[in-house]
Amino acid sequence: MMRQINSLTNPTVKALRALHERKYRRQSGLFLAEGMRIVMEAVDLGWAPRHFVFLDGRQEDEQVAKLIAAAETAGAECLAVRHDVLAKISRKDNPQAVVASFAEKWMPMDEVMQENALWVALDRVRDPGNLGTIMRSVDAVGGAGVILIGDCTDGFSVEAVRASMGACFNLNLAETSEEAFLDHINIWQGEVIGTSLLASSDYRLANWQGPKILLMGNEQAGLTDALAAAATQLIRMPMLGRSDSLNLAVATGIALYEHLRHQQPPE
Ligand code: SAM
Repeated sequence: MMRQINSLTNPTVKALRALHERKYRRQSGLFLAEGMRIVMEAVDLGWAPRHFVFLDGRQEDEQVAKLIAAAETAGAECLAVRHDVLAKISRKDNPQAVVASFAEKWMPMDEVMQENALWVALDRVRDPGNLGTIMRSVDAVGGAGVILIGDCTDGFSVEAVRASMGACFNLNLAETSEEAFLDHINIWQGEVIGTSLLASSDYRLANWQGPKILLMGNEQAGLTDALAAAATQLIRMPMLGRSDSLNLAVATGIALYEHLRHQQPPE
């Protein structure tokens, strides 16, 4: 059903704006994705929008029309709105022309453990930009997804979704406490490759074969002792200059491409 909304105090507009806050995302189970490219990516990957909001007057644009059709097929609420209403939902003066809400999907940890593939597990990642960038890199190397351990930034925040450039729609996301993670990896049938500045093995010498969980530490504190102890291998990237560590997302990207380098190259 398509509606025109011109009121800044409309309850749906307020509910969508509230999705910038984690509390309301958790209550509703919904999150926001902004921009034609990301929303189109989600729909192409089979995600069903719950709301689809677009700038009134753009109905005839080919891509907007395609998204309206997909949203209506999915039973989503389609809202044609003024620029100021879109700005209110997006919390930006210059909003994108389309915004959609989707239902969050979290993979239970016991299913993660059965997916013998490449996972990245992040210990208390705090920065949504780092998390989104990591999701994008995991997707780039064909990884299965990201496991969030402990008190992490939300994988479905507007900032993380934006930084992932839509990769979040092509990945599995799981969240767990450190304790539950440590229990679960007892049954994991592969390597657990921890990364640490204290590790003695050069990352190029690690065993990159088979299924693996790449375990990355918190931006400030690194990996907890318990997580580092649970790794089957601990690796480091050499630091040859004055900096004592790499940015978390950069370190993850380097390790992920080292993983890829050890896989069968294409014919
Ligand atoms: N002060 C922290 C520490 O002592 O671990 C620095 C954390 S670093 C900014 C964030 C995470 O990125 C680390 O926990 C590790 O997972 C990864 N990382 C960064 N540089 C690394 C390196 N040179 N070798 C291995 N891992 C690295």
